[in-house]
Amino acid sequence: MSLLNDLLGYNEQFVNNKEYEQYVTTKSPDKKLVLISCMDTRLTELSTKALGLKNGDIKHIQNAGAVISHPYGSTMRSILVAVYMLGADEVMVMGHHDCGFGALKPEPMMNNMMERGIKEETFETLKHSGIDVTSWLKGFDSVEESITESVGKIKHHPLMVEGVPIHGTVINPENGKVDLVVNGYES
Ligand SMILES: [Zn+2]
Repeated sequence: MSLLNDLLGYNEQFVNNKEYEQYVTTKSPDKKLVLISCMDTRLTELSTKALGLKNGDIKHIQNAGAVISHPYGSTMRSILVAVYMLGADEVMVMGHHDCGFGALKPEPMMNNMMERGIKEETFETLKHSGIDVTSWLKGFDSVEESITESVGKIKHHPLMVEGVPIHGTVINPENGKVDLVVNGYES
């Protein structure tokens, strides 16, 4: 059995047994918050449970490192959609300690890419198109600095509504403790 077959087999039972009923909610977040957190497996549930949030409460965006890497990338676009079209009126960027993306160095990943068939010239070609893979794949030294930087990018985005609080927090992936880095009500 492949993973895909396992997943689809489970899904058939899930729907037939009406297990979806416990998750029924609306498209608008009950707590009017957009949460941007890391895709770390330890945080899939912990990032929301640690704040007392349940299904239907928030708009939840997860990516590598909880980083806004580009002002017109899909994460920033998702935040704007949540604010303008889905009723969110606060934003929280949540980084975490021991982040795999934070520790990411471009060279080992680029070597891995080449071992798996990506040609070295491809990096050069991309560089000529303005994409420096080395800096694109670089993590961060301090999670607090990374969070503060992402909070600033959202807050000062030309299309962001003025007055929407943008909070920054860091979660401990082992015990779920959340520390405040930026209080969006004060800045
Ligand atoms: Zn992470």
